Amino acid sequence: MRSNYSAWSLLRGALSGQRHWAAAWRDATLQSSYDVIIVGGGGHGLAAAYYLAKNHGITRVAVIERGWIGGGNTGRNTTIVRSNYLFPESARLYDFSLQLYEGLSQALNFNIMLSQRGLIMLAHSRHDLDSMSRWANAMRMNGITAELLTLEEVGALAPALDLSPRARLPVLGGFMQRRGGTARHDAVAWGYARAASSLGVDIIQNCEVTGFIKENGRVVGVDTTRGPVRAERVGIAAAGHSSVLAKLAGFRLPVTSYALQAMVSEPIKPVLDTVVISPGTGAYVNQSDKGEIVMGAMLDLFPSYAQRGSFAVKQSIIASTLALFPSFSRLNLMRQWAGTVDVVHDSSPIIGPTPLPNLYINCGWGTGGFKAIPAGGWTLAHVLATGQNHPLAEPFQLERFISGRLIDEAAASGIAH
Ligand SMILES: Cc1cc2nc3c(=O)[nH]c(=O)nc-3n(C[C@H](O)[C@H](O)[C@H](O)COP(=O)(O)OP(=O)(O)OC[C@H]3O[C@@H](n4cnc5c(N)ncnc54)[C@H](O)[C@@H]3O)c2cc1C
Repeated sequence: MRSNYSAWSLLRGALSGQRHWAAAWRDATLQSSYDVIIVGGGGHGLAAAYYLAKNHGITRVAVIERGWIGGGNTGRNTTIVRSNYLFPESARLYDFSLQLYEGLSQALNFNIMLSQRGLIMLAHSRHDLDSMSRWANAMRMNGITAELLTLEEVGALAPALDLSPRARLPVLGGFMQRRGGTARHDAVAWGYARAASSLGVDIIQNCEVTGFIKENGRVVGVDTTRGPVRAERVGIAAAGHSSVLAKLAGFRLPVTSYALQAMVSEPIKPVLDTVVISPGTGAYVNQSDKGEIVMGAMLDLFPSYAQRGSFAVKQSIIASTLALFPSFSRLNLMRQWAGTVDVVHDSSPIIGPTPLPNLYINCGWGTGGFKAIPAGGWTLAHVLATGQNHPLAEPFQLERFISGRLIDEAAASGIAH
């Protein structure tokens, strides 16, 4: 694919008051029928649309988004990617995702600014050290490289951390996944949107799905704020609103929705060139390419669709971050926000068929689905195209709540990213 952005067009865009940028995707008109409709224009929905066209040659596809693409959790996260999970099923899925991320800028011809700057998990106690050595060993058994770190090694990688024995949160060591890091979240949404659109996918923004059209118990389309649209198959990728859509379709999901918040400081010169996660406190910190210190919080532990977040969680995350990095106490906080995340009781996603024929779902990524966008899109596209779950998605079917084969990843995915 040829780049739309020559040096000349970049210069022209920059010097002309930003008035001449070429649109990255087509301004599509909603048609009355499609082969596939995807509800939700976040990363997972857009990636699924792209892989439907790219991997399966299905291009009569619409992504229907009630707001703007990437305006949900995809544009609200702290951009951390990793594949350091405990169970083989999760390791396979998330590492496949990381591998796709590693080639994504080339595949989409769009710079997603992947920065594999490494990701450190901090141990604050003997118990943390023991569980991290188990965690690192589990990763190695799953074929994913992990390195246990001494205190000195942590200090060499992140010198801004307070590693003194008198620190409020003493650090004893940790472990690292060097292939972990960050990617620019908007670019992931825009890159998939642009590539999908160029293959023929219609991206429809400001259009809400308000119901599902059923005939003989099968889903044959959706009702939207712009009228009904028919489709052979429908996929839901609506994150925090999955259970709302499931209710419209007439089934229930084992999902609870919570606010998850994050915040950034004013930009400063480079001071932190790795991702630091403190599972014990729920704090995760990295520095963006613009220089902002990006701080993520734990869940606001009461169900809510409010995209604000409570003051208590803000306070606790700032306190933990400052205990880890005392020099950040002189920074001004610039912005705070939250997203609505869909948490499944075993902290693993749900991918595949629903109780309704022709209706498929990708949800339950909770606090950590940004890293899973390529794999989530790939596997949703597979089941939409073939009617069969992708082998990587097989263990994550909704049916596991009937069979009891849960994949309890709370320790690796529950709090931090
Ligand atoms: C503060 C925060 C920090 C996070 N940090 C990380 C991190 O560092 N690493 C990580 O891996 N994950 C992280 N996550 C989680 C990650 O952002 C999500 O799991 C992921 O973005 C989910 O992507 P998605 O495409 O499923 O959902 P979304 O991006 O939320 O997209 C779903 C879309 O569906 C649309 N929609 C909903 N209802 C309808 C309807 N009825 N009709 C049409 N459209 C509808 C919404 O408007 C939305 O745009 C974080 C999340 C938050 C909130």
